[in-house]
Amino acid sequence: MRIFLRVGCFVFASAIAAQLWAKPAGEGIPTGKLPADAIPQHYALHLTVDPRLDRFSGEARIRIKLAKASDHVWLHAQQLDLGKTTVTGANGETHSAKTIAHADAGVLEVRFERTLPAQDIELAFEYTAPINGQLEGLYKVKVGADSYAVTQMEPISARHAFPGFDEPRFKTPFDITLTVPKQDVAVANTLQLREQASSDGKWKTLTFATTKPLPTYLVAFAVGPWDVVDAPPLPPNSVRKNPIPLRGIAPRGAGKRLAWVLGETPAVVKFYEDYTAQPYPFDKLDLLGAPDFSAGAMENAGLIIYRDALLLLDEHSPADRYRSVFNVNAHEIAHQWYGDLVTVPWWDDIWLNEAYATWAQRKATVALKPEFFGDLEALESRLYTMKNDSLLTARKVRQPILGHGDIETAFDGITYQKGASVLAMFETWVGEETFRKGMREYLAGHAFGSGDSDDLIKSLSQASGKGETFARSMRSFLDQPGIPLVHTELTCKDGKASLALSQSRYLPYGVLGEGEPRWSAPVCTRFGRAGKSDTQCFLLEQAEQRFAVDGSCPDWYLPNADAGGYYRFDMARADVAKLGTAVAHLSAPEQVVYADSLNSAFQRGDLGPAEILDAMPQLARSDMPQVATALFDAFEWIREHLADDTTRAVLDAYATELYEPHMKTLGYRRKDGDAPTTIALRTRIASFLALTVRDSKVRAELNKQGRAALGLDGSGKVDLSRADTDLLRGALDVAVQEGGTTAFDAAQKEFTLNHDTAQRYALLAALGSTRDPALAAKARDYGLTPAVQIGEMYNLYNAQMEQPENRAAMWQWLTDHYDAYRARLPAFAQGYMPKTFAEGRCSGSAADEMSAFFAPRTKDLVGSERGLGQTLEGIRQCSSLREHVGSKDLSRWIEARPATH
Ligand SMILES: [Zn+2]
Repeated sequence: MRIFLRVGCFVFASAIAAQLWAKPAGEGIPTGKLPADAIPQHYALHLTVDPRLDRFSGEARIRIKLAKASDHVWLHAQQLDLGKTTVTGANGETHSAKTIAHADAGVLEVRFERTLPAQDIELAFEYTAPINGQLEGLYKVKVGADSYAVTQMEPISARHAFPGFDEPRFKTPFDITLTVPKQDVAVANTLQLREQASSDGKWKTLTFATTKPLPTYLVAFAVGPWDVVDAPPLPPNSVRKNPIPLRGIAPRGAGKRLAWVLGETPAVVKFYEDYTAQPYPFDKLDLLGAPDFSAGAMENAGLIIYRDALLLLDEHSPADRYRSVFNVNAHEIAHQWYGDLVTVPWWDDIWLNEAYATWAQRKATVALKPEFFGDLEALESRLYTMKNDSLLTARKVRQPILGHGDIETAFDGITYQKGASVLAMFETWVGEETFRKGMREYLAGHAFGSGDSDDLIKSLSQASGKGETFARSMRSFLDQPGIPLVHTELTCKDGKASLALSQSRYLPYGVLGEGEPRWSAPVCTRFGRAGKSDTQCFLLEQAEQRFAVDGSCPDWYLPNADAGGYYRFDMARADVAKLGTAVAHLSAPEQVVYADSLNSAFQRGDLGPAEILDAMPQLARSDMPQVATALFDAFEWIREHLADDTTRAVLDAYATELYEPHMKTLGYRRKDGDAPTTIALRTRIASFLALTVRDSKVRAELNKQGRAALGLDGSGKVDLSRADTDLLRGALDVAVQEGGTTAFDAAQKEFTLNHDTAQRYALLAALGSTRDPALAAKARDYGLTPAVQIGEMYNLYNAQMEQPENRAAMWQWLTDHYDAYRARLPAFAQGYMPKTFAEGRCSGSAADEMSAFFAPRTKDLVGSERGLGQTLEGIRQCSSLREHVGSKDLSRWIEARPATH
């Protein structure tokens, strides 16, 4: 198993004494699950936190059921400097206990003076610990002169904040008390019961209500000069009798930007109450925007914490930010049932939490905000995840967890998007109401406890009436990695049609799989006849099967109706040609899976670049952004990996010819009444034309806006609202790329003064996107200074990697600055480090160079063995495909183009 060592120095008081104590016979240090014979029953935590200081202090009392006689207990603790530790038996006698820290495993051994019989005991710890600097456990953030302390416990960082049984299966009530500076605001999972001032008047002690049973990873609190905004309570309804207090919490001065999300929240909560038939499970709901945060948001029971850019909105916020805020809020609120009310017992089932919340979030968005087209957004996320699931090194949805690295990397697209897609596919198959019945039974049966995959499959199988067939089908998607590739061929004879289906694993060109994986997949197919269409579902369980098609011979068919299935398809040539003539009859999601079938055939080496390029016009005209841009990835691959300077110019002219008409219609400013889809289309196409194709006309328009925003148009005053809100990011990129040192310095200066997180991201990305070698070097170094917060660094480095001109220097810089870069990354982000630096690599030697650098460092980067393996596989696959396709097909396509282009 892999473990990670923290940088910096930390000392456990008892670390040296520890070596003198014998290990209990026959028992090693539990580096995975803790032994099952000590079960926590209740925690009382009293922490004293001043966010201005570097350390906090705590007292933790944990009531534990000893299931059998023992002279010791194992639990978790990390970086805690333990003082007095005592154990109190059922008879009320208190003795001191020894603590032995196993820092590498994050495990703490508490040894008693003698063997205690099975009984309830209480362990009491006194300790101090650093307020973490890497967004883990209880961590600190500075904004200007203000200091905040915020928690992020999931997955295994609660052990940085208090000693405990840091595994999701242990759910207990918590009593939390916080002593904080008098002028600060402090919040926790539950309502505050009392406040008491210290005798010197400098501190106050806040006592919070006992929580419902929670795992350690859902415990949360925050301290600082927060703005607290009271919203109207969530009113009672047919599912819930009591009103629920609702509040928004933001960094000082930002409270007014909570209005939009607070206004949207009651409908979201009610949506889930109606769906689940379970009342909102906790005593209040707080939404808190943290000024720096590792992930997007965290579903702590009753106190959801967000990266503030995903919570705070105003009239200057881009339209897509509103969509993200709604989606993320819907996701985290869904977790209050899926994850918080019912929790997974161990991390190998974490997909249950995340797939549910992702699936439920889409349902809520589709129902409450149809203008956001949540189904198309979910489909794009699914297709993005399919790239990862195409790798031989892909994880399973239900992946065994062998160590800390596996826990940290379990929160990926497979867990969220594939899991959610699988749920949606089976929902379509059995019907929405039947599926809801199974979901309700599962939640009701495990409320305030735990449930695993088998529990869910059991509830759904029973509700569906399909029993073992349902269970087998669902397991086939959870317990093996990869995407089914469904080969289809339609035969018509005497007016009757039959569809031959067979299956294999979808793998890109040059990748050979092992064995013959078999799925049990519901293949729902749309059949078109004389301008109308209907659907029929087939359960493909064997390697090959033939199914009778209802009705007469169809004119065309699409083997993934409503884009509902988690698989790809490969149609017989004649069938593809017929479908190609009917694309206009398909729904927008179906047009997107049609485009994906072309792209995936290209990646498999079955289609050439000419076929991709020729398919672009029929999609480019769509006014749905996801459809119009569905072949952008394939186009960019061809442009980057197959074209040379001459042929690239022809491709760029082709793209401009296809997409510039959109910009003529859309313009470069948001108009009153623009639908979210219109705005998204404008943003995507302007960015594609300006930054990928580098069209001079579009760049000139964006440059004008970017220069005005940075005060370089003669005004001398920075005012970011002078650029179109939705185009700001692209406008700043172009302005910095075109404007040299003056523009770079103006953007950097504004970054140091600006506290709007979303605008800071745009400014950082602009600094990263410069192509001037000296400025690019300056930007890279800047990303390691405290001016750039940890959670926003990626904006700078990803932007830098997007510019092919910067990649070689970026790599050289990484080899020189690896330690400093690594030291800033939270554990959960470390596994993705190889991927960040792999952009554009597409040769065996590029993979070898990466491997030589990272392989010796994987032991120091949590989760990077998997991250590196997948990155190298991706690079080598790109290289094989590039050699296979070559440049001839593209040259022929270009020669055949009319000369005027
Ligand atoms: Zn989630």
